[in-house]
Amino acid sequence: MRDYRSQLWDAVVIGAGPAGATAARRLSDAGASTLLLERQSLPRYKACGGGVPARTVQLLGGLDLSSVSEGRVDTIDISRFGRHQFRKTSKKPLAWMVMRDRFDQFLTDMALAAGAMIEDAAPVQSVVAGSGLYELETERGRVRARHILAADGATGPTARWLGIAAAPTRSAAYEVEVAAPTAALEHWRRAANVDVGYRPWGYGWVFPKDGKLSVGVVAAPKHGRSIRKQTDRYLSRLGLADARLINVQGHPIRYRRSNDEPVARDRALLLGDAAGLADEFTAEGIAYAVHSANLATDALLRSDDPAAAYRDAVNTWIQPELDAARTISRLYYWCVTSWPWLALKTSKHINYLWSAFFRVMRGDSTYADELSRLPGHQLAQRAVA
Ligand SMILES: Cc1cc2nc3c(=O)[nH]c(=O)nc-3n(C[C@H](O)[C@H](O)[C@H](O)COP(=O)(O)OP(=O)(O)OC[C@H]3O[C@@H](n4cnc5c(N)ncnc54)[C@H](O)[C@@H]3O)c2cc1C
Repeated sequence: MRDYRSQLWDAVVIGAGPAGATAARRLSDAGASTLLLERQSLPRYKACGGGVPARTVQLLGGLDLSSVSEGRVDTIDISRFGRHQFRKTSKKPLAWMVMRDRFDQFLTDMALAAGAMIEDAAPVQSVVAGSGLYELETERGRVRARHILAADGATGPTARWLGIAAAPTRSAAYEVEVAAPTAALEHWRRAANVDVGYRPWGYGWVFPKDGKLSVGVVAAPKHGRSIRKQTDRYLSRLGLADARLINVQGHPIRYRRSNDEPVARDRALLLGDAAGLADEFTAEGIAYAVHSANLATDALLRSDDPAAAYRDAVNTWIQPELDAARTISRLYYWCVTSWPWLALKTSKHINYLWSAFFRVMRGDSTYADELSRLPGHQLAQRAVA
């Protein structure tokens, strides 16, 4: 095995989630010497619903996910605290369901095949900027790199070490995987439940997996302590209170809310959750993790000033989506908590809302484009900002 400590790497990527694995693959494909360092032993579990919308697959270049797919979803089932239930179906598949240990390992294997060196169980302990290079301390010694791609997630320390204030935590999410009875598995086959009504905003979800269900709640951070109870109540409403729990985990989610929140400094770029690139409507982040990896690697490979090029690209391609998703989220959750009956009736009968959402999930449209069709959208966006 090569000794990765003796070499000056073109890039060291910190964190083997979707952002880090995608960045390592793309850099290696382009011939850059790339080391991917992951804190945990791979494959590692990540608290996540594991919903991978079709738009994420597009960003992954149309990658065939069949070897790691736990099923596909084309139907969204909406309820409010388990009541007023209705279903809407998309003509084309909306999302793939994955287990994050297998999915992330799949992406990491592709980086390895492209020529990246991967070290797992290798937490980075510090990063120091020197002249023209970075020095990283790991448990196994010091590593040097020309560029750093920090993809170490919502709780990763690299942004702090680099003196880049990362987006603050703005929601808490809690996920359990349950060995559900056959009838429940059959009921949710190809369908995801979204349960609304949580204050001030948030939702519960059921995502079907092979032989189990992922059930969880995402809520405002001040509800972090009660999120476990909310999840238990949700499980009861679903008739799953006695189902065996296979996995239980919580995790914060961060949201970048303006072009001014830093995503880079010199030759160090923050990717995915490390930069707060998750959206406030669905709380999803895998699409933005992959998108940011694409933009970061392009900036690093093509620009003399990767930090400026990456910042511009994030502000052009990702931030407008995060801003639009936040406006949509505020409007939607405000309606659902203020006039629940009316909001549910309206969303049931206005099919346009559903086709717009499905277009975004499939990658045929964007939140920003759909929001711009709404009368008064500029006013709404200004009010939310
Ligand atoms: C409960 C929950 C449910 C969610 N459901 C969905 C969903 O259904 N669909 C969706 O799109 N998004 C979902 N998200 C969001 C999604 O999980 C994240 O946006 C996504 O994982 C971000 O990917 P990433 O590569 O940026 O970071 P991560 O996937 O978090 O990967 C970061 C990696 O960095 C490693 N690391 C951290 N520190 C160090 C260090 N010092 N040295 C080396 N390695 C380090 C970590 O071990 C980790 O492997 C959910 C989030 C939560 C909390």
